[in-house]
Amino acid sequence: METETIQKYVKAGTIAAEALQYGTSLIKNGTKVITILDAIETKIQELGGELAFPAQISLNECAAHSCSDMNDETVLHDHVVKLDVGVHIDGYIADNAVTIDLSGKYTELVNASRDALSEALKIVTPGVSLAEIGNVIHKTITSYGFSPVRNLSGHGLGHYNIHTKPSIPNFDNGNKNTLKDGDVIAIEPFASTGAGIVQESVPATVFTLVKDAGVRDPITRKVLQEIKKYNGLPFAKRWLERTFGTPRTALALRTLVRVGCVQEHSPLVDQSRGIVSQAEHSVIVQKKPLVYTRRG
Ligand code: MN
Ligand code: MN
Repeated sequence: METETIQKYVKAGTIAAEALQYGTSLIKNGTKVITILDAIETKIQELGGELAFPAQISLNECAAHSCSDMNDETVLHDHVVKLDVGVHIDGYIADNAVTIDLSGKYTELVNASRDALSEALKIVTPGVSLAEIGNVIHKTITSYGFSPVRNLSGHGLGHYNIHTKPSIPNFDNGNKNTLKDGDVIAIEPFASTGAGIVQESVPATVFTLVKDAGVRDPITRKVLQEIKKYNGLPFAKRWLERTFGTPRTALALRTLVRVGCVQEHSPLVDQSRGIVSQAEHSVIVQKKPLVYTRRG
């Protein structure tokens, strides 16, 4: 990989790590989720980064893909909070996440996903198979008495593309494909007190433009113009609501989803309503792996 590319990944990673730590400091009982998300997104831009996706806060049995709409009044109260932050520099993405337990009852659950991540990071060298990584994650999480979430996985990080190959399993899925020198991946173990299988819920708050199309309605066309500025990366409904208002945004997004222009990312919730924790880092795979979202 070219030095300049590595530098962009590292800069994105440094900002993502700082934003994650900043966000963590804001996560307290009594604070509004939307206030935290807005503050993190502002911080990323102040630090010179761009948003690879909207800052995400997913609570309790919700594992991922959740952020505030413009009128969200949710206040933190004893929740298990997954904070997931993504930053890019010229399309080179850093993705990291952490879990904060405000209830004081899920310390071990938080430790399970965090330790699974550290164990996986120890073996992320060229030649390791995807199944081996999944096996380490599975073994660590089950040693705590929890289930890894099997239908969520880590992923390759492409240029302006958050989810590319390879998919990094959270259990031994038998995949003998190996990591190669220069692969850039995010590893994200999820631990659940429940089923360890997530399913889609409603309403979606995060969307991605997947293709262009002609639209007749003038407002929908304006919304689509705005969406194009996100370079094919995920965006929050809230961002559009602040320009176009809630009813117009909802109408435009419905239309754009229907014509296949925009894909919605539904919140992912544990099937048996188990509580879920997550930990995530981004890595450049090499002989000595570069965990570029790790601080110091
Ligand atoms: Mn993430
Ligand atoms: Mn990720």
